[in-house]
Amino acid sequence: MQPPPDSTSEQPAGPQPVATSPEVATGPDPVALPGENDLRHMDAALELARQAGALGEVPVGAVVIDKDGRMLGAAFNQSVALKDATAHAEVLALRQAQQAHGDFRLTDCTLYVTKEPCPMCAGAAILTRVSRVVFGLSDPKAGAMGGAFNVMALPGVNHRCDIVRGVRESETHAVLRQFFTQRRKESAARREAAQEPDATPSDEAL
Ligand code: ZN
Repeated sequence: MQPPPDSTSEQPAGPQPVATSPEVATGPDPVALPGENDLRHMDAALELARQAGALGEVPVGAVVIDKDGRMLGAAFNQSVALKDATAHAEVLALRQAQQAHGDFRLTDCTLYVTKEPCPMCAGAAILTRVSRVVFGLSDPKAGAMGGAFNVMALPGVNHRCDIVRGVRESETHAVLRQFFTQRRKESAARREAAQEPDATPSDEAL
């Protein structure tokens, strides 16, 4: 008798639905399928990311949507403006949502964010018990929901979120790429200006 084909191939052909049974999610890289409203909510997060970029913040936006489709939180990165390294879009949006919801448990809510959450924000998603996290661009260097590693696979983490990745991926990538390209240009221009001997008089000469 031949055994049945192994259904746990390492290279699935497309997004794999996550089973909802409680014993699942022990693997490192669960992926769920996007719902019909995911594109619309990610568009809202993208718009926030663009606003952040226009203000000189790293362009990441996040929204929190409850089970009835209400937006409980919406924020973009504000680390520069608030002088707070923890002021990431996800943390700010989750804080708003907890206040709006009147409970720190956001059990039936979805967090949408343009880029894969960092370890801090993935931790915040777990602590608030959101049921789903939807993001656009994976982060293989620092992403904590399957990009670099999956924080939910750590022993002792007892909350699992369904993860949907790749929603508006090209758009979220483009927003980040444009921001960092522009920043590099500005940095190069400053270096060039600093090497120019006949630039405007220094403050000390005034
Ligand atoms: Zn973060």
